[in-house]
Amino acid sequence: MKRLLLHTCCAPCMLPSIEVLLGRSPWERVLEAPPEYEVSVWFYNPNITDPEEYLRRKAALLVVMKERYPDIPLLDDESEKDREHWFLTASLLKDEPERGKRCIFCYGYRLYRAFLKAKREGMDAVATTLTLSPLKNTEAINRIGLLLERRFGISYVVSDFKKQNGMKRSKELCLQYGVYRQDYCGCEFSKRSKL
Ligand code: SF4
Repeated sequence: MKRLLLHTCCAPCMLPSIEVLLGRSPWERVLEAPPEYEVSVWFYNPNITDPEEYLRRKAALLVVMKERYPDIPLLDDESEKDREHWFLTASLLKDEPERGKRCIFCYGYRLYRAFLKAKREGMDAVATTLTLSPLKNTEAINRIGLLLERRFGISYVVSDFKKQNGMKRSKELCLQYGVYRQDYCGCEFSKRSKL
């Protein structure tokens, strides 16, 4: 079975996405082929610029993984060492709207690091929960993933986790498990477009 690194931004996006990747929810229209993966989860988000918010989201993910998916490996987070680098570059694009150029940079930054991590861990494939949110540019995320697939020789799993009622399922699962759901994407600049 292929070893898959699932990059995740937060527990609300991870919960419905992992159900699909583990074959517990319908995969049609979400993935291009039935999922047959041994999944490991990687929380990696240098874009969450407020340290308290970062810790809150990370804690929410760790708790729900431990309680609901104790057998799924969690890879070491490396967000903190990259936060300053991410912020310096993203600041140049601070006036961009959400889904604009700053977000394209942000998707690429996190996915590039996800592929590097997958390579170091000897994994076969990468997927990301970023495609769950309707506020993100799914087409751009998948295009970047496919570019990185060619660059690294590691498969990228094209996804659209919002299909098959992904957001509805996210809300249900967060309510059921008492998981914290944030009201903005993550960076300082996205606070101005709070939900
Ligand atoms: S709004 Fe979200 S995706 Fe866009 S740059 Fe900020 S954290 Fe990244």
